[in-house]
Amino acid sequence: MEIQSLGATEEVTGSCHLVTVGDYRILLDCGMFQGNHGSEMRNREPFPFEASGIDAVVLSHAHIDHSGRLPMLANAGFSGPVYTHRATRDLCDILLRDSAYLNEKSVEWENRRRQRKHMPLIEALYTQEDAARVMKQFRGLAYDEPRQILPGIGLCLRDAGHILGSAIVELTLTEGEVRRKLVFSGDLGQSGMPILRDPSLVEEADLVLMESTYGDRLHREPRQTHEEIRDIVAQAGHARGNILIPAFAVGRTQALLYWMATHYEEAGLAAWQVFLDSPLAIRATNVYYRHSDLYDREAARLWGRNGKRKLLPNLSYSRTTAQSIAINRIRSGAIIVAGSGMCNGGRIKYHLKNNLWRKEAHIIILGYQARGTPGRALVDGAKSIRIFGESIRVGATIHTVGGLSAHADQGELVSWYRGFRNRPPVALVHGESEALQALAERLSTESGAEVTIMKKNQNIRLDKLPSKRTKPHAQ
Ligand SMILES: [Zn+2]
Ligand SMILES: [Zn+2]
Repeated sequence: MEIQSLGATEEVTGSCHLVTVGDYRILLDCGMFQGNHGSEMRNREPFPFEASGIDAVVLSHAHIDHSGRLPMLANAGFSGPVYTHRATRDLCDILLRDSAYLNEKSVEWENRRRQRKHMPLIEALYTQEDAARVMKQFRGLAYDEPRQILPGIGLCLRDAGHILGSAIVELTLTEGEVRRKLVFSGDLGQSGMPILRDPSLVEEADLVLMESTYGDRLHREPRQTHEEIRDIVAQAGHARGNILIPAFAVGRTQALLYWMATHYEEAGLAAWQVFLDSPLAIRATNVYYRHSDLYDREAARLWGRNGKRKLLPNLSYSRTTAQSIAINRIRSGAIIVAGSGMCNGGRIKYHLKNNLWRKEAHIIILGYQARGTPGRALVDGAKSIRIFGESIRVGATIHTVGGLSAHADQGELVSWYRGFRNRPPVALVHGESEALQALAERLSTESGAEVTIMKKNQNIRLDKLPSKRTKPHAQ
């Protein structure tokens, strides 16, 4: 009985862990590597196991760094079920197709370059049809409903509060006389975030596999974030400019719209026209609308008041290219929320081209910007950036607002671990080395946890761990 980490080891992306119990093999997540130049090549590497030998996949949440290689797994021969929350299934239906589309586009572009240089052509990682096909293997579950997925193997999903449908995965494993409980944190949300409930606490485990994204950082108070955004809106109003918000389609966009709905009067938003200019974010927002039963108390109350009406009276969805182009004519009074979140693709590039040079414009950066992206250049104070081969001078004011992060910070990660009353050993994944070191240090000194920082392909024998649980093993 063991767990082996195949991805998201000493890095954030590519989440994938293999659990072996007797003859059964379960994969926790099957995510893409993202962000750096080598990641495209790493996604092309064959799986280090027989795909047809996997009995089931358990998927923590819809983000591509957790779900993105599922169509490839199915193409390689995996024909079993993918257990996940039903909201994750709905989000994956959108995100996997989009991921296929983006990959097909970039491969098309790459192949044109290769053709010119007489180099061998490459194929897309998977097509939109492949993405649609693997969706048939998804089995949507609810939170807090234990179920047996294989003989001797029980699964229960708990709310992780990270994005809609995100789950903490509890696996109870039996092999002969040996019984162990493995808890995988998935990605843990920040407490008190808009819309979603706070991450659930789990009381006991024999091993905790835990994310560490912000293991070395503390977030600002949500109240400060509210004041920051409100002040930016006021400044931009005085300057008579537009506000551009590059946004990630799932999670951040909905948190932002919700923020606007709850601060509509106070932030003077009635004076603005708000555009959600991203077909992907619009589809994801509709999935959020459909699963209002998963909201926290405040969001449920707002939902009850607004019913099926739009969150904001002045919100326009722009789906078509023509609708998006029409926004270009607006010189002031528009809040434009468009993808991609790091400004390296999508419609935000057109809006930057039209607004970035204007001194009255304001840009709000909400999320992590990877090195090498235009978004990172803006955050780092670049005087100009290149968009569509043209150098655009930065005249606009750039604001970085970190408080809407979808991830728990160091303090919250530690207190989530402290929810385990039996202080089980921890294996840390999904973090860069500084974050892993800092979190390991705090967990072991403050909570007396036995911590392992997982290396690539490292495995832990679960049957060799002494079980410190007090409760009987539930199936
Ligand atoms: Zn995530
Ligand atoms: Zn993640």
